[in-house]
Amino acid sequence: MLSAPSFAHETEQQPAQSNTDAAQKRQQQPAELTLSLLVPDVYLHQSYKQVSGFGLVESNGLVVVQDKQAFIIDTPWADSDTAKLVDWITLQGLTVAASISTHSHQDHTGGIGYLNSQGIATWVSDKTQNLLTANKLSSASHTFRTKQLTLQQQLIEVYDLGAGHTVDNLVVWLPNQQILFGGCLIKSLNSRTLGYTGEADVEQWPLTVAKVQAQFTQAKIVVPGHGKIGDSSLLSHTIDLLTQQPQG
Ligand SMILES: [Zn+2]
Ligand SMILES: [Zn+2]
Repeated sequence: MLSAPSFAHETEQQPAQSNTDAAQKRQQQPAELTLSLLVPDVYLHQSYKQVSGFGLVESNGLVVVQDKQAFIIDTPWADSDTAKLVDWITLQGLTVAASISTHSHQDHTGGIGYLNSQGIATWVSDKTQNLLTANKLSSASHTFRTKQLTLQQQLIEVYDLGAGHTVDNLVVWLPNQQILFGGCLIKSLNSRTLGYTGEADVEQWPLTVAKVQAQFTQAKIVVPGHGKIGDSSLLSHTIDLLTQQPQG
């Protein structure tokens, strides 16, 4: 029942208004799933959904590879794109070992049902699992209660540093590549607003991002939940947006 607003929370990816047929066609047909190599063994996946009132919304996730095993950091929006992602990974000669979703919203969990059907371990925090269950969404096969989870030794570390975009938002640290996946806790530099804040904790949010800043000073690449990837400047940009935002 609460699933409708839960994904309608980003505006910066709307295509520019245009009257051309081509642009209208693009708006009617959501763009295809895309994959791009960020650094060796780490791919960015980007999926799209037409969201009423928001236009075409792009969402970011990662695929991290080690020893022919692939880990999905946040699923695409839908089962269909998640199936395409798994097919693509399999075509590379890799096996999908597990997924982790960084909060309960559909842009980061929409493929959990498909992954479960394929026998792939799906991970979320117990906070996220409670929200998935309450919203009658596919729940994950594995949960954790701690503030930190090592999904794969020396490869993927997951942290709950506090509330922000949602009460359950996590960040993922890739120590080998020094990549921080901030998810929807972190805004892209193009973002001029906080997006959907219906479930946000705007008082804690800047404090949580400050903890992220303090903990991951060596981050070379920072990946936001939506929009262009960048560096640590995304963290200070997010704090700026939050402290400039008129509250209440
Ligand atoms: Zn969200
Ligand atoms: Zn989001």
